[in-house]
Amino acid sequence: MMGGATARVPAKINLHLGVGPLREDGYHELNTVFCALSLYDDVTVRAADEFSVTVRGEGQHDVPADATNLAARAVAAIAEYAQVPDPQVAIEIEKQIPVAGGMAGGSADAAGALLAAARLWRLDTGREELHDLAASLGSDVPFSLLGGAALGTNRGEELLPVLHRGELHWVIVAAKGGLSTPAVYHELDRLRAGRGETVPPPERPDELIVALASGDVHAVAPLLHNDLQPAALSLQPRLRRTLRAGGEAGALAGIVSGSGPTCVFLCDGEDAAISVATELSGLGVAKAVRTAHGPVPGARLIPAH
Ligand code: ATP
Repeated sequence: MMGGATARVPAKINLHLGVGPLREDGYHELNTVFCALSLYDDVTVRAADEFSVTVRGEGQHDVPADATNLAARAVAAIAEYAQVPDPQVAIEIEKQIPVAGGMAGGSADAAGALLAAARLWRLDTGREELHDLAASLGSDVPFSLLGGAALGTNRGEELLPVLHRGELHWVIVAAKGGLSTPAVYHELDRLRAGRGETVPPPERPDELIVALASGDVHAVAPLLHNDLQPAALSLQPRLRRTLRAGGEAGALAGIVSGSGPTCVFLCDGEDAAISVATELSGLGVAKAVRTAHGPVPGARLIPAH
């Protein structure tokens, strides 16, 4: 029997997402606080005679089942880096993370594929090498490896762990339809240009970092912030209704997650999250409503499927 390895990787949300001006290299300078939530994709990499990608679960038909899949690109990158003589694999992805939802689902799969391939081929790839490979695949991939809570700078790939006391409880509302991350950044640039604003570099959200260390959900709630939210709302105005509905249902605060359109709501404990999720489920504003907690660890190996 041919060997295989499985990695489990969490979704991310941005508790703070500060977006600076558009740089000459086409990226925006970010200052963000990531948090990994208990919503996972499982990625299995097996030795095979023929290359294949199989995707099951949440949004499976919206994910490419070929070499353009981020997990496949990750396997190719680590195979080339480590000069694996026979890198043919079958990749299986079980998705819980909404596709094109602003929760870094593709990045999670890339991080999981790196870890699973390294185990399959028994590579002794160090933490820093994995981080560099991850950063070459996408700005969010290093955080998917790291997990927990972390401050992200530059394009979001330079990470510093943040102290996050206790567990926070969230409701995740996956919208009908997705949003393309580049389209949301373009919209932000368009809105800013229309206002003739000079955009300052993003600042470190010190107040939020102190609140996270205190573990006080009531201190954290008013400090959630996303510079991309106006752009996501401009492209999908119906998200305003979702955000309002979350507040009315009893959430302490709600924001668009990353580039959206997933909205996340911070609640005062697990019971409150269940009650908010139940109420939002009944409104029909979303494709799926679920609860999750965080922070949780980043990509890790689990017994092979
Ligand atoms: P982010 O939060 O990192 O900006 P996202 O969560 O908004 O990303 P993804 O779910 O990563 O978006 O998907 C973005 C696009 O990437 C999808 O529309 C899909 O076509 C493509 N894609 C490639 N590989 C994958 C994968 N393994 N999982 C999900 N999407 C993938």
